[in-house]
Amino acid sequence: MPGNRPPIDERALIVVDMQGDFMPGGALPCVRGNEILDGIQAAMSSGEYGHIVATQDWHPAGHISFASSHGHHQPFEVIELYGEPQTLWPDHCVRATSGAVLDTRLDWSLANIIIRKGSDPRVDSYSAFRDNLGPKGTRPSTGLAGWLDERGVTEVSVCGLAREVCVLWTAEDALKAGFTTRFLWPLTRPVSFDSDAATYQRLEHCGIAIVDTASMDSPDA
Ligand SMILES: [Zn+2]
Repeated sequence: MPGNRPPIDERALIVVDMQGDFMPGGALPCVRGNEILDGIQAAMSSGEYGHIVATQDWHPAGHISFASSHGHHQPFEVIELYGEPQTLWPDHCVRATSGAVLDTRLDWSLANIIIRKGSDPRVDSYSAFRDNLGPKGTRPSTGLAGWLDERGVTEVSVCGLAREVCVLWTAEDALKAGFTTRFLWPLTRPVSFDSDAATYQRLEHCGIAIVDTASMDSPDA
């Protein structure tokens, strides 16, 4: 219901992890991630958002989320880390490598801020707002909630990669931080479509608006 939305200067768009390693052919590809490029560019250029945030997964080599850092484990196995499940990933988005570069098909000059996450070698970081649970039993903040709040933002819309991982966690943390949260479903792609039902349920359960307008790319699932 567009009538309920705040003025443009209270709206932020968060574009999550649009990086080479998450694209088809990359180290940790999302399914047809390239198909959302045009829609995301259109959203960034639309003038409908007063603030545009980009995130960039930015790991040191040997990061704790990499299966290769755990000897006998394979990518996509789940281990326990600091008392929480941790999926082990293929090496990806190692800082200053080509796979970590923000996709050059998008105009990043439109972004007001780029949040780099996952830089702590000891803890993963899916969300734009907070690291995953770390060794001290806390989820350290990236500072993004304060950045948005001090700019008067009240509504956050999320898009990007991957739907069931970093976009989902970003949306959940946006809501917890007090922002009205919109999940631009057609402008996301998952690592696996098998996760879609669970992702949809989690969003519905916590009260995040799932936006699936006809003006966007056609839904894929
Ligand atoms: Zn990562």
